[in-house]
Amino acid sequence: MAADIKYKRVVLKLSGEALAGDQGFGINPPELKTVAKEIKEVHAMGVQICIVVGGGNMWRGVTGEKLGMERAQADYIGMLATIMNALSLQDALEGIGVETRVQTSIEMRQIAEPYIRRKAIRHLEKGRVVIFAGGTGSPYFSTDTTAALRAAEMNADAILMAKNGVDGVYSADPKKDPNAKKYAHLTHMDILDKHLHVMDSTASSMSMDNHIPLVVFNLNTPGNIVKVVKGEHIGTTIEG
Ligand code: UDP
Repeated sequence: MAADIKYKRVVLKLSGEALAGDQGFGINPPELKTVAKEIKEVHAMGVQICIVVGGGNMWRGVTGEKLGMERAQADYIGMLATIMNALSLQDALEGIGVETRVQTSIEMRQIAEPYIRRKAIRHLEKGRVVIFAGGTGSPYFSTDTTAALRAAEMNADAILMAKNGVDGVYSADPKKDPNAKKYAHLTHMDILDKHLHVMDSTASSMSMDNHIPLVVFNLNTPGNIVKVVKGEHIGTTIEG
């Protein structure tokens, strides 16, 4: 592995949106290919990569609840959406020669392995990209919290929070407020104190309690994942 790699084992958090492309909904195979190529580049550097994929491009539990569904039931539908995304990403990665394993938090043995922590670590050591699907397997949580949980379990060096079209954490929405300031560095406590919309508070607390660095960056700029793992300062780094 090259000496200039800062983060040797990472959890890459991809929101469902990252797989949807311009249509903003569903799965867009050309977009998947683009994301897969970015991941392949980092993988080729010898970085151990696990991916937690969201499901917001298809379904969010809170939306179902607002429309009258029971929250837990709606959340299980969201978890199933993340599994569809994981299989799509697996297809894109394997299509360009990257060996992968999908592990689901809800057993679905015909299509993926069940989540087994030690087995996931073994896959990483063997150079496979591990895709964690199904979130935590429990309702009322998010895939951001899943990323924090899996990062702790995998003993990852960092969570790479890939955003769509946003290059870091701002004091306000930069699309609405011309005075919005981009932060280069923050602590997890800053995120909680300032109510910055990076990840939900459960995910932030989990990252803080387990001292997991988080890098927020723009997925849409080619080469950004490579820059982040090398420790080049792009986006916002959240530590402490
Ligand atoms: N979800 C859940 N438990 C989890 C992870 C996800 O219930 O541990 C459900 C929840 O309904 C959520 C949906 O799955 O809205 C999709 O996940 P998320 O919103 O985190 O996806 P993203 O915004 O990253 O695309």
